Amino acid sequence: MNRLPFFDDDHDGQFRWLLIWERLPEPGYLKALGEDDLRQRLQETRWPTSICCPECAQTSIGQLERGSLFQCHRCRKQFSVTNGTFLHRTKLSFSLWFLVAEDVIREFALGSDRRYPSPKRIAAKYKLPQPTAYRVKKLILQDFAPAGEGLLERAICMHEPMQPTHLALFSAEHRYWLDQVRRGFIKR
Ligand SMILES: [Zn+2]
Repeated sequence: MNRLPFFDDDHDGQFRWLLIWERLPEPGYLKALGEDDLRQRLQETRWPTSICCPECAQTSIGQLERGSLFQCHRCRKQFSVTNGTFLHRTKLSFSLWFLVAEDVIREFALGSDRRYPSPKRIAAKYKLPQPTAYRVKKLILQDFAPAGEGLLERAICMHEPMQPTHLALFSAEHRYWLDQVRRGFIKR
């Protein structure tokens, strides 16, 4: 899945969040995935064609440790799927990153106050220290920002977008229609 475009007239970024929300899998889908599944999703997102060495860009790569650690055949660098990304050396589970990101998408697509989900609520829900919850939300928002890496965005947004054939794509009408769908006034 490619990253979504950024629209000049989308001043509050609201349309973009709606388009991201539209591509979320069904509620509960991400929660049911195990760490290996999520690592695999990150891997396929990061290297859609072939695994690539972050040091020398070589694609002749060996696998160590059941696929979670790789080694470059040329420069011998050992690396994981998170190496060189904002998730590098994270002590938190992939599941936590995916689920908090899902919460952020659902909340932001509501167009509500951008303080929510608050670090306090994230901390309570996922049993994290509040500073950790704050940092997780901040890094997720950086990843989702138009200038960000978009790693989680691309890994999570796996649903085919709805294409309203009667509306011009990415028009003001499209935005209104999608907001109505999100509010449940139009059936998905
Ligand atoms: Zn290399």
